[in-house]
Amino acid sequence: MTPLTEPEIRAAFVNCTKGEAKRLHVPRDLGTRPWDDLDFLGWRDPQALDRAYLVAVPDGRPVALALRRPSPGPGRQRRTMCSVCLTNPVGGVSLMVARKAGKAGQQGNSVGIYLCDDLACSLYLRGRKDAGPGARLPESLTLEEKVERTLSHLTAFITRVTT
Ligand SMILES: [Zn+2]
Repeated sequence: MTPLTEPEIRAAFVNCTKGEAKRLHVPRDLGTRPWDDLDFLGWRDPQALDRAYLVAVPDGRPVALALRRPSPGPGRQRRTMCSVCLTNPVGGVSLMVARKAGKAGQQGNSVGIYLCDDLACSLYLRGRKDAGPGARLPESLTLEEKVERTLSHLTAFITRVTT
């Protein structure tokens, strides 16, 4: 994806207030992120482990989402597949919840998705980050096809948040 700047990312949030978008944690090392190998940029807030964020460019315009990771209750640590990149990374998969954009969100509506806990889906797909043994099922798809599928899953989730 095209590299994005901090102001571009902050301006792209669709499901939090302008004030929240101004204050939330954005990585300081944007200049050294492997943008060429990213289908979307995802990150966690190191100060608030229940918060995660992602930004994608589904239709040529950046869209960023604020996500919450509800803390798993006891006995809920089962392995689940990431619904975006279809990986079972050794680092785990978390249910991430996004408040819906606009009025629906103000009324308390949210949507959830299972995502790689470290949001490194793009790097797992490309083998740039080791997801662990057996984390990915063998597939005959090309990387382009996997990327396309990943983006279509992510875009579908973004649409659920914004509509
Ligand atoms: Zn993933």
